[in-house]
Amino acid sequence: MRVSLTDRCNLRCNYCMPEWGMHWMEKDTLLSYDEMLRVIRLSAERGVYKIRITGGEPLVRKGAVDFIRQVGEIEGITEVAMTTNAILLRQHAQELYDAGLRHLNISLDSLNAEKFHEITRGNRFDQVWDGILAAQEVGFPSIKINCVAQRGVNDDEVVDFVNLTRDMAIDMRFIEFMPVSDWDNWRQKYIGIDDLKSLIADGVGELIPVYDGDGAAGPAENFRIPGYVGRVGFIHAISNHFCDTCNRIRLTADGKIRPCLFGKIEVDFREAIREGASDEELNELFDEVLQIKPDAHNITMERPEKMLTSMTSIGG
Ligand code: SAM
Ligand code: SF4
Repeated sequence: MRVSLTDRCNLRCNYCMPEWGMHWMEKDTLLSYDEMLRVIRLSAERGVYKIRITGGEPLVRKGAVDFIRQVGEIEGITEVAMTTNAILLRQHAQELYDAGLRHLNISLDSLNAEKFHEITRGNRFDQVWDGILAAQEVGFPSIKINCVAQRGVNDDEVVDFVNLTRDMAIDMRFIEFMPVSDWDNWRQKYIGIDDLKSLIADGVGELIPVYDGDGAAGPAENFRIPGYVGRVGFIHAISNHFCDTCNRIRLTADGKIRPCLFGKIEVDFREAIREGASDEELNELFDEVLQIKPDAHNITMERPEKMLTSMTSIGG
């Protein structure tokens, strides 16, 4: 289950959020940490074993580190991961590690400070890079860099990104641009994984598939390059969706569970909790979530549909 701690963020990435930001959720509409822990505990009783903390930017919510420690202590939760833009990572890397976090996904869409500024509307490249170095120094065993590929924006850097994995113990993951923010330009900026693989084949060499089991490790299709330390992965939610192996659900910052990132359906846990629902009643809501999880989404290049106005309350 992915858990969004907040819709707020210290960046404004063009594919995720409008430039003017958002009408942020009122504080009292956000689930409290105790409410989130209750939902996670119940989900763990039903078989959820991995929690990914996300946002908005999870590290802008006060108390995030302590919350992560408590999530890791829940019986049945064997893996806690976080997706972050790394701006605050230098400050928090050691305490996150001490709190039990081991898996970090860091968003980075350009290795060029100016272009980073253009994409994220924040002049923070140096801080993000320093955050990545901090995570390495602390010794996180799993660091992935997530890059949303955009044609004409950062596709000229694909090979540079892949070459990072030659000597750095990080995995590089390219994500297909989903139709959220920057909707007017989505069609022209979207670049499919096949095109990215061709760019890599031309610029770096052969990609050798890595078998990762039944999809439980995540939705990425992974590869390695001979002689490189890290791996390269692709998340192709548009060109070749992976809905039939999707076992994810998403707890939004305001306490709804979404069975599918692409659909608009969600089940309101916050209202039920605040009306005094018992654990049995919340369990019935979980049944509902599983029953309404769609077989597959139907967004394609030919049939695009604006999924959301922003990814921030859901967490990607
Ligand atoms: N702020 C954190 C970060 O950026 O890593 C966590 C939240 S962010 C919403 C989670 C992930 O969603 C990031 O990897 C981001 O790149 C991805 N994302 C946001 N909008 C997207 C879009 N339109 N298409 C593809 N990925 C998107
Ligand atoms: Fe913030 Fe992450 Fe969205 Fe960028 S992708 S605006 S860092 S929430």
